[in-house]
Amino acid sequence: MKDCMAFPENGLEFDRKHVWHPYTSMVNPLPVYPVIAANGVKLTLADGRELIDGMSSWWAVIHGYNCPELNQALYRQIEMLSHVMFGGITHGPAVALAERLTEITPGPLETVFFSDSGSVAVEVAIKMAIQFWHAGGRPQKQRLLTIRSGYHGDTFGAMAVCDPVTGMHELFSGVLPEQYFAAAPQCGFHDSWNEADIESFKNLISAHRNELAAVILEPIVQGAGGMRFYSPAYLQRVRELCDANGVLLILDEIATGFGRTGKLFACEHANISPDILCLGKALTGGYMSLAATLTTRRVADGISSGKAGVFMHGPTFMGNPLACAVAVASIGKLLASDWKTRIPQIEERLKEGLSPCTGMPQVADVRVLGAIGVVEMRQPVDMARIQKRFVEKGVWIRPFGKLIYTMPPYIMSDADIAAVTGAICDVAECETGGE
Ligand SMILES: *Cc1c(COP(=O)(O)O)cnc(C)c1O
Repeated sequence: MKDCMAFPENGLEFDRKHVWHPYTSMVNPLPVYPVIAANGVKLTLADGRELIDGMSSWWAVIHGYNCPELNQALYRQIEMLSHVMFGGITHGPAVALAERLTEITPGPLETVFFSDSGSVAVEVAIKMAIQFWHAGGRPQKQRLLTIRSGYHGDTFGAMAVCDPVTGMHELFSGVLPEQYFAAAPQCGFHDSWNEADIESFKNLISAHRNELAAVILEPIVQGAGGMRFYSPAYLQRVRELCDANGVLLILDEIATGFGRTGKLFACEHANISPDILCLGKALTGGYMSLAATLTTRRVADGISSGKAGVFMHGPTFMGNPLACAVAVASIGKLLASDWKTRIPQIEERLKEGLSPCTGMPQVADVRVLGAIGVVEMRQPVDMARIQKRFVEKGVWIRPFGKLIYTMPPYIMSDADIAAVTGAICDVAECETGGE
């Protein structure tokens, strides 16, 4: 190895002892795979093997790795201005990105708050909702209503609205604020609508309207909480019930935004728009950590007319110019691309490719929406063992719980999609579950 930053000799050993990874133990760490480079849809491991990336690095890398236009945007920006504080200062990339986001997001979302990660965008949304009612003379409206099987991030405010079971609320009981949870929607995306599906939500929102600041949920696709796709009619009812009960609606499109479900934003499947919208993940094409919280003029004006007079949040790296510049380039590239025809094509390839899993006794469900393909097993899978099998097949797939799933970069070829789905079918077939 020539370049020691590529991957040092004792790197894996040091990593094992000193580096935390997402949701892992420092006593019994699961194996990690050193990646030294990535191009297009391929990751290069330190031993030279190449893997087709079926994860888009957790929904983010929609244009693939080492994308020339995004690189260019960063090179240009780095020579002008890498970072400057956002208090009392503004700059071109932030203004350009805010302009773009207010243009392309559904509904009259007119103000943009930049932050560093999805979890913080959710914290910001929650604080905004609470400040809005406080300013409006309704300080008792501080609680949130959400639906089970959701995921909104790992910080405390966000964690409190994650599914109580998979989010392990009992571990943090006493420190987590207690929020209200409606039953998870049961009508799937393509199912005919059953009005009973909204009962639990309807009862909770009307019972607690006077203490509810907002409803927060992931529109159409529940991601890390279970990879579930629910009916647009459910989301329409949620919007109606929020309006009828005087509760704000926060939509968390951190995973679904920027085309993943076949619409630019998933709430467009239901033709509704939120009062507050959270974006992240694919916002920068997966290049940098950046998130945004958008609001309507009504929410922004409400917050600003309160006793505080200001919104109480301001991260050090707010509106980082590099991140904003690459986000502008990523959105430009997406809108100039043929994503509207390509995502439905990817959907077809995923359906075809995963169809052999349907009917396997160890498989509970196979579902596809847009560029998201999910195989739900009956038993939780052994992540380390199954991950190794995928790597041996030249594919990067990271299952969790009972879920083996893929959300490929939009630039992935049909042949590579077939390789990914083929590997998923092979691995699913050999699973007997558990052990
Ligand atoms: C990933 C995710 C988050 C959290 O974003 P981070 O950048 O990991 O903090 C929040 N909401 C949803 C729906 C997500 O998928």
